[in-house]
Amino acid sequence: MKVLLHICCAVCASFSIEKLRQEGCDLSGYFYNPNIQPEQEYLKRLKETEKLAKRQKLPLIIGDYEIDKWRLRIKGLEEEPEGGRRCRRCFALRLEEAAKKVKEKAFDVFTTTLTISPHKNSQVINEIGQKAGGDLFLARDFKKQDGFKRTQELAQEHNIYRQHYCGCIYSLR
Ligand code: SF4
Repeated sequence: MKVLLHICCAVCASFSIEKLRQEGCDLSGYFYNPNIQPEQEYLKRLKETEKLAKRQKLPLIIGDYEIDKWRLRIKGLEEEPEGGRRCRRCFALRLEEAAKKVKEKAFDVFTTTLTISPHKNSQVINEIGQKAGGDLFLARDFKKQDGFKRTQELAQEHNIYRQHYCGCIYSLR
């Protein structure tokens, strides 16, 4: 099965790649995260993802840094707490773009590394993924079976940069 994995960052991707390959998936990655600010941080996370992809021999598609599109999408929700409505829109934008990429590049299905974070509600992410892609979305919960712990071990083992905030300037504050 040809699977497109939406990657939010290298730390979260490391375990998700391991897990999906164990399932026998033929994987490619898609880095599409216009939510990451400032741009310097975006470039840092992208570079780490490129390094990981090279090490893991993972074909990687890099989306555009469409910060204005993201700003428009979350407009009016800037002051929302993390985990609230702003985040739902942020997830939706990224997963809708992943769904478009699946169709454009003829993958079978797509999923996302987003569910690995203990700060993110996997059920909400999976619902948004299904809304964005219907049957093309592969629901997963990577934080299960100590997934997050394993990401931390892998990050340490491979010296992967670990950021201390989710991505947007509101999460940085
Ligand atoms: S806190 Fe994270 S998920 Fe929520 S809007 Fe900001 S970048 Fe997106």
